[in-house]
Amino acid sequence: AHPIAPLDASLLKITHVETLKPVPTPGTYGFGDIKTDYMLVMEYTAGSGWSAPEIKPYGPLALDPASNCLQYCTNVFEGMKAFIGPDGKARMFRADQNMTRLVSSAERMGLPTFDPDALLKCITALVSIERRWIPAENGHSLYIRPTMIGTKASIRVGKSDSALLYTLVTPVGPYFPISPAIPHPTLAGVSLLAISEHVRSWPGGTGGYKLGLNYSPGFVPQTLAAQEGYDQVLWCLDVGKKPEEGAVISEAGAMNFFAVLANEGSDGGITIVTPPLDGTILPGITRDSALQLLRAHADSLSTSSTSPFSSPLHSGSGPISVIERPLSLSELAQAAQAGRLLECFGTGTAVLVVAIERIGYYPLSKTTAVPIDSEHTENTPKITDIVMKGGLKGLGQVGKA
Ligand code: PMP
Repeated sequence: AHPIAPLDASLLKITHVETLKPVPTPGTYGFGDIKTDYMLVMEYTAGSGWSAPEIKPYGPLALDPASNCLQYCTNVFEGMKAFIGPDGKARMFRADQNMTRLVSSAERMGLPTFDPDALLKCITALVSIERRWIPAENGHSLYIRPTMIGTKASIRVGKSDSALLYTLVTPVGPYFPISPAIPHPTLAGVSLLAISEHVRSWPGGTGGYKLGLNYSPGFVPQTLAAQEGYDQVLWCLDVGKKPEEGAVISEAGAMNFFAVLANEGSDGGITIVTPPLDGTILPGITRDSALQLLRAHADSLSTSSTSPFSSPLHSGSGPISVIERPLSLSELAQAAQAGRLLECFGTGTAVLVVAIERIGYYPLSKTTAVPIDSEHTENTPKITDIVMKGGLKGLGQVGKA
């Protein structure tokens, strides 16, 4: 028997395009539509393993119509970015973490796995060859989309023992439109509609992995949120909860969720809360960075008397606590009523750090009363908004911290 070939970056071959495409001017494109010159492709075949990776002209893939990915959604992916730094150098943000997460998604999907360092070497080569597509403008970057699909050509229900692993890149600007009033893109605020009638994930489900099938069922609820005037859905879970306890917040669109609460009592401190990694939310890499930075900041505050933190929301006199714990919608609503909900923000590769201006929710007794295709009737429950006390002011400080 032949040994199974591992993914080997030293075998990378490059096929050059004849004519390079013109690079569009930043500001003229939205998120995700631009096709660059190249893509990176490698194949896994049952019995023989990984082919030599290849960087080749961007173009369509040829797939058998019976392909496992087309029938049973064996599709896993990653989202990461390359930026041009102030020193003019191109860098990827924590790409090793994306490789680890892609391997974990592939394992969950029963797809073949690979050496994450080998894939990262190939992706680095792709980003280098596509260097001229990385926009240097503020809020812009080259979005990198490694994708793995099951290609077993059989409609038999079962896992795919062959796969295609490819990576495309696309220049992107801010995910959400920038408010002209607010110069820095991360400070533009977005609105969320909290729903628990449709769920994105559930205990024991696949929400902790980056599988294509976690996303598509959310498209119709997302349209409902947009019709109601909200930018994104805030996915909530009320499994096992009493109505008065309220649904538990999980995450929003393509971002993890954070709330900043003023402490009860008079210590002048704040508590930053984000839902725990219990398998129902994606372990966001930006979330992890935010937690590390916030915790380092909180520690430095507790050991030094001169605080760099001068938010109007927090004088720097009280302690900062950073906690991963379940957070319910009713807790948020009550904190807002008591004037203790200072701000909320989302984190993610696509959105960076984005302030959340308001969160709409249906009255708690009727969280399940709105079918997605509902016509408005007098029985349609009205949406109530949770509004942050701090608006956008404080987040700038957290963002810079
Ligand atoms: N949640 C979901 C559902 C996402 O798709 C993303 C984007 N990958 C995130 C959170 C944020 O994760 P990251 O910071 O790793 O981009």
